[in-house]
Amino acid sequence: MNLMPDSRTTSSGTPADADMAVTADAAIGTLTVDLDAIAANWRKLEKTAVPAECAGVVKANAYGCGAGPVARALAAAGCKTFFVATLGEARAVRAAAPSADLYVLDGLFQNCSDAFAAINCRPVIGDLNELAEWDAFCRRTGWAGGAAIHIDTGMNRLGLALDEAQALIPRIVAGDHGITLVMSHLACAETLHHPLNARQVAAFREIAGQFSGVPASLANSSGIFLGPQYPFDLVRPGAALYGVNPTPEADNPMRPVVELKARIVHIRMVDKGESVGYGATWTARRPTRLAIVAAGYADGYFRAGGSNDGTRGADVVVAGTRCPVAGRISMDLLAVDITDLPSRATVRRGHFVTLIGEGITVDELAHHFGTIGYEVLTSLGDRYNRIYKGGPAGS
Ligand SMILES: *Cc1c(COP(=O)(O)O)cnc(C)c1O
Repeated sequence: MNLMPDSRTTSSGTPADADMAVTADAAIGTLTVDLDAIAANWRKLEKTAVPAECAGVVKANAYGCGAGPVARALAAAGCKTFFVATLGEARAVRAAAPSADLYVLDGLFQNCSDAFAAINCRPVIGDLNELAEWDAFCRRTGWAGGAAIHIDTGMNRLGLALDEAQALIPRIVAGDHGITLVMSHLACAETLHHPLNARQVAAFREIAGQFSGVPASLANSSGIFLGPQYPFDLVRPGAALYGVNPTPEADNPMRPVVELKARIVHIRMVDKGESVGYGATWTARRPTRLAIVAAGYADGYFRAGGSNDGTRGADVVVAGTRCPVAGRISMDLLAVDITDLPSRATVRRGHFVTLIGEGITVDELAHHFGTIGYEVLTSLGDRYNRIYKGGPAGS
């Protein structure tokens, strides 16, 4: 891990393999995560959802941003409840947020109850067999750390059916049930007027109301913006914390969090009529100046961002100016047409170009890639040098 000289800037050290950790000099580029922007986004979501509590969803290594540093920044901002997908992710977050409530969305895998108790995290239980196994563990050991009940209201992924949930009501009424949260998940929250939203919120209100005394949670990032009947007692934003637009039909209310820069490894001239890249799909229509950049689809810059003679692809900011990608994206490299840069812009081997930032949003890139911002963030590769900006003092 390469600690940067600036004391407000720390390196993450979460590459998949420590041997692949690269010094800043050797890295293909720099991925900067703005922890203050994440904290500001959390506060904005909290205000929007008030009086509900605002949790933080930090699964998938905090959407590629780094679970440890992100959880520490959110905890310092006041976040008290975290959600991850797996037990392995829970361990990383527990180390960063020792006193937080911590839920595991994928629930209890077989024979893992003791591992949940060992780090004091709570399974989100969405299956009756899972519940039976957890109950047996709690009876046998006296563990009372709590669990969530997930109820399906239309997503048809995880969660008890409504009649299965109904059958638990006598247990809730009897008290001492060990259930600390009742939740469901919206399937179409990013579409403001999707009819499934109203059906899900009505079904959830009805069943959650019978889990008396148990806090209820329905809304993800986009759900927070659907109206005052959606937040219940606890909201579970993920993507919006990391700058993805939770309201795709309107302007993005969130601050951008991620900036991605990659290195120019070569500048070359190609003659009019020459083709560029695999498949020879892009032809120079004039004498063309290209910057070859050391990032490709193995780094999460999707192949779908390329261009050909008929279709423009993604843009890259070079020396402050947007320039188009030329030809297909390779595994490790991409080409940018920099012919139109003003002649005073000196661009050289070793300079950095901006793939995300300077007006290029995660959502814009996702549009070019034919996907959503979530997939862009969680695909960002290990070959970038990860740097953190801001964050709690002393972290
Ligand atoms: C991932 C996830 C969230 C967070 O969703 P975003 O759309 O990223 O805000 C909330 N709840 C559940 C059950 C999830 O799986």
